[in-house]
Amino acid sequence: MLLKELREQVIEAGMALYNFRLVGLSDGNVSARDPETNLVAVKPSGFTYPKIGLEDVIIVDLEGNVVEGDHRPSSETPMHTCIYRTRPEINGAVHCHAPYATAWSVVNKPIPAIIVNQVMTGGEIPIAPYKRPGTLELGECALDVMGGGFAVILQNHGPLCVGPSLEFALHVTFAVEDTAKTALYALQIGGDMRLMTQDIADMWAARRKG
Ligand SMILES: [Zn+2]
Repeated sequence: MLLKELREQVIEAGMALYNFRLVGLSDGNVSARDPETNLVAVKPSGFTYPKIGLEDVIIVDLEGNVVEGDHRPSSETPMHTCIYRTRPEINGAVHCHAPYATAWSVVNKPIPAIIVNQVMTGGEIPIAPYKRPGTLELGECALDVMGGGFAVILQNHGPLCVGPSLEFALHVTFAVEDTAKTALYALQIGGDMRLMTQDIADMWAARRKG
């Protein structure tokens, strides 16, 4: 069995999304790339998360061709492989339908830099214009808007988060949803939001330097 460890990571990340209700029963998708072989472990299409076994995770190449697996890979595989082809430093990607983050995309408002853990996301969280699910165009547009950051919200759809590992991308996903929720509460309380744009940019730059 190819990429057993990455298959385990895919299952664990999927269950975290499922347990915290950031996806429906089988929505969303996660993947992890092996930088040595450039093979990608990706969620199978249509499986409810608790029913995914190690053997069900699909292995694809960077063009999305199935290398090992008996099921169809996630319908968003073109988006995932587009990420890995474009950004060699990225080895994990998480897409979910987290409701607070998605709400900001429905009104097409980027989430401002307001809390310290946005150092995980790269600061303000942008919205990528709506593209049809399952298309390569969706991935290209998302990457374009994300720039060198780790997070974007697909308009009327949900967050897409990436990182040097799948675990990191999962942390980014939770940071995005926490930020979306906090920003919403702050707006409801009223008053001006204190922005952290510069603080986060400085912390982000310091982390990238190592
Ligand atoms: Zn989706």
